[in-house]
Amino acid sequence: MIASLTPLMLLVLSGLPAAGHANEDSNDEETSTSASTPPMEEIQVTVDQVSGPVYMLTGRGGNLGLCIGEDGVFLIDDQYAPMTPAIRQAVAQLTDKPVRFVLNTHWHSDHTGGNENFGEFGAVIVAHDNVRVRLSSDQVMPFMGREVPASPAGALPVVTFNDTVSFHLNGNTIRAFHAAAAHTDGDAIVHFDEANVVHMGDIFWNGFYPFIDSHSGGSIRGTVAAVDTVLLLIDDETAVIAGHGALGDRAQLIAYRDMLQGIADRIQTLLDAGKTLEETQAAGPTADWDAEWGGGFIKPEAFVRMVYEDLAQ
Ligand SMILES: [Zn+2]
Repeated sequence: MIASLTPLMLLVLSGLPAAGHANEDSNDEETSTSASTPPMEEIQVTVDQVSGPVYMLTGRGGNLGLCIGEDGVFLIDDQYAPMTPAIRQAVAQLTDKPVRFVLNTHWHSDHTGGNENFGEFGAVIVAHDNVRVRLSSDQVMPFMGREVPASPAGALPVVTFNDTVSFHLNGNTIRAFHAAAAHTDGDAIVHFDEANVVHMGDIFWNGFYPFIDSHSGGSIRGTVAAVDTVLLLIDDETAVIAGHGALGDRAQLIAYRDMLQGIADRIQTLLDAGKTLEETQAAGPTADWDAEWGGGFIKPEAFVRMVYEDLAQ
């Protein structure tokens, strides 16, 4: 079983001075813009055992997946560069083996910011082809009002794949596969066959309206399709790690899918009727879902704008 497991609570401080301004990530996708957000050197990394050798680590940025064992450490995503010491300390409390692989679920900096650090420590960075393409060049995120400069060479994935790649480590078969045009154009979903765990990256935000980066090739229709693919793969016992939010399960993923589908259909109907963005927002197409899903970083009105602009493309 999943969420009922007693978590190992490892509270680790990164011990690094903040890189740049303490609030430089204040408009990143997973944070509220609250002035009370602590600087990264004070962020705690929490470790939850999910199933067998698979763990979820939470700090600042996207949720990490971790698989430990005799063969070494397999890590999914690496948050921001200043989080690397805290992540390494958390891993070191579970195993003395090195991090051999880091798999990026997509290019966003709250999931790839530690790549260069982990590469220097000997990890092989693995991602979909499009992650390397985007990290290699300057990116813009108009919805966030952000420009993201190209990453240094040492942060780029060394191994890339176009469809699927499998790892055979620690008694587990770990299959990463591409989901087209979902959160971005380079998403990987990671499935641990024996442990019965799936890491969705930012295709799944558990309990919140998601950010969908249509400027990076993502789409709400592709997100729903990716979730449908995963639903065929998992069962009621599967632990579902979201990119942001608490550890989830199949029932929560179904609720998320139905919310996305319902809102997309309503906004599509308004678009087809020739409604402007303002008219669509005024119609309140998310009203039935706001109480449950509207309390995160992406507020209802912003989510309507995001989906409207996506569907209007
Ligand atoms: Zn993301």
